[in-house]
Amino acid sequence: MKLILVAIIIFLSAGCADDNDASKTDTKEELTDHEKNTDQKQVSDHTYNEEQVEVEPIEESAPSYEQLKKTIVEKFENNTPTVWGENIDGVVTEIDTDDKVIALTFDACDSTPDTYDEDLIDFLIEEQIPATLFINARWIEEYKDDFTDLADNPLFEIANHGYDHKPLSVTGESAYGISGTENPAEVFDEVYKNQQLITEHTGKSPDYFRSGTAYYDNIAVKIVEFLGLTAVNYNVLGDAGGTFNKDQIVSTFESAQEGSIFLFHMNKPNSDISSGVIEGVQMLIDKGYDFVQLGEYDDHLK
Ligand SMILES: [Zn+2]
Repeated sequence: MKLILVAIIIFLSAGCADDNDASKTDTKEELTDHEKNTDQKQVSDHTYNEEQVEVEPIEESAPSYEQLKKTIVEKFENNTPTVWGENIDGVVTEIDTDDKVIALTFDACDSTPDTYDEDLIDFLIEEQIPATLFINARWIEEYKDDFTDLADNPLFEIANHGYDHKPLSVTGESAYGISGTENPAEVFDEVYKNQQLITEHTGKSPDYFRSGTAYYDNIAVKIVEFLGLTAVNYNVLGDAGGTFNKDQIVSTFESAQEGSIFLFHMNKPNSDISSGVIEGVQMLIDKGYDFVQLGEYDDHLK
């Protein structure tokens, strides 16, 4: 369905461009050969008007938020999930590559006061370490200006970390005591409200999604895919939700391999995360690793 809609939009856009070109050509010909142009212009105008008539109703019928939600509900309401977890089919956990590259991902989960680890982000900027930032809507609302700065910095790729930071379930499963979404409609809201929010702020629609708590069921993952996003988790748990001390964080870097995806948090400034990451990143640089955004290896995510 999505592909069809995209195809329709592309077709219509292309059609409009062609029509404009045709009109310009006709106008030019009108100056050089009036008689010949009269016939052509009539044909051209006829085509133009006919397509205009088609364009408007189809553009109006492009799916609204509610229409897309209805489509999701109809498509997935009778599906029963069979698995629940972090590392399930359809959720990316690593980059399939022999290149000595590491993807650092940082979640920004909540908006309680003082939830921006500027020491961490400043370090990444100073050392020019690229990263993918999974941002929750509550953090965006709290740190609008900082969010815009991060999104404007090509060092960072912005990804979607949900609207209410819920585990992504179609049956209300919970993780770490946090209740998940209850049904396909809530899955849609959780993913798509933040997708729209990020797109409004940045002008760019994220390619990657990570649920709050990183838990999913397999139907929720299908909904994420249906919305054109890839669910991404990790194969190296870098800070265990901010509970690791510096030594524990540094030791996670020792398990790095080609294509590892690390999960850290950028919303816990009063933790050891920044000091651990600073030391760990330097360790991997010394070992010859480069750091990449997920999008640079989009075709190799698995
Ligand atoms: Zn989170």
